Amino acid sequence: MRVDDKTDVVASLILKSERVVALTGAGISTESGIPDFRSPGGIWSKYDPEEFSFQRFLASEDARRRYWEFSRDFYPVVASAKPNAAHLALAELYRLGKLHCIITQNVDGLHQKSGVPEDKVIEIHGTLMFVVCLDCGKKYPRGEIQKRVEAGELPPRCECGGVLKPATISFGQPMPAREMRLAEEAATSCDLFMVVGSSLVVYPAASLPLLAKRSGARLVIINLTPTAHDNYADVVIHGKASATLQKIVMLVKAKMRENST
Ligand code: NAD
Ligand code: ZN
Repeated sequence: MRVDDKTDVVASLILKSERVVALTGAGISTESGIPDFRSPGGIWSKYDPEEFSFQRFLASEDARRRYWEFSRDFYPVVASAKPNAAHLALAELYRLGKLHCIITQNVDGLHQKSGVPEDKVIEIHGTLMFVVCLDCGKKYPRGEIQKRVEAGELPPRCECGGVLKPATISFGQPMPAREMRLAEEAATSCDLFMVVGSSLVVYPAASLPLLAKRSGARLVIINLTPTAHDNYADVVIHGKASATLQKIVMLVKAKMRENST
C-alpha cells in the first residue's frame, strides 16, 4: 500500500473508533531539536547507556556528578524546545474529540506545551521539569536546581542532605505505579492504539501496544524506521511523525466534514 493510502486508512480507523490512545516516544520530539536515543547522532551515540542506569546513579557520588553534568547540558535543549507539527496534530485530534489520551515515554513536556491537558498526558518515564529527593521525597522545580548546578553544585543535594535526581525514570529504576496503572487501563480500554516515534525496544513501555492488541484494539505504528513490533500492527507507516500526522489529521477533518453534510 502507498503511504497516501495508508494515511487514508488510518484516518478512517480514527473516525470509526470510539477511543483512540497514542503512545509517543523520543522520535516525535526529534523535529523539535531534541535528539532521540537510538538514531545516528542520538544520545547513545555520545554516551554509554550503562553509565546512566539507576544502579550506577545510586552507587557513587562520582556517577551522580557525571549524570548531573549530562543532565545540566541536556535540560536547556529540552526547556527551550517547542512542540512541532506532530505534537500539534495530536493536540488537534484531542480537540476534535478523536483522541482519548497520550501515553508518553518522553520527559520533555511537549504534549502539555502543545495544548493537551495535563491529566490527558500519562508520563510513564517521568519528567525533566522536576527534581526529586530520593531520601525525603521533596520535589523541586527543575529551574531552581538547574541554576545551582550551573553555578557548580555538582551533584546537587536536598535541603535534608539527601540525593537529588531529575524526576525521570532511569534504566533499572522502578516504574511509577500510578502512571503504569493508568497506561495499562488506557491500553486495555481503547479500540485504536497509535504508536508515534518509538523504536519499541524499551520495556515495559513496549508491552503496551501488545496489551492493546490482545485486548482487541487495532494497532497503528508511525515511525521513521522499522520497530520491534511492526509485525503485530494493522498499519505501519515508515515516515516522519510531523508530515504523517499532519496528513492524517487533515484527512480526519475532511471526512468529518463529509459525514456532517
Ligand atoms: P528511541 O530512541 O529508542 O526511538 C526513537 C525512534 O523514533 C527511532 O526508531 C527513530 O527511527 C524514530 N524517529 C526519529 N525521528 C523521527 C521522526 N521525525 N518521525 C518519526 N520517527 C522518528 O526512543 P524511545 O522509543 O522513546 O525509547 C527510548 C527512551 O528515550 C524513552 O524511555 C524516553 O524516555 C527517552 N528519551 C526521551 C526524550 C524526550 O523526552 N524527547 C529524548 C531522548 C530519549
Ligand atoms: Zn530530601
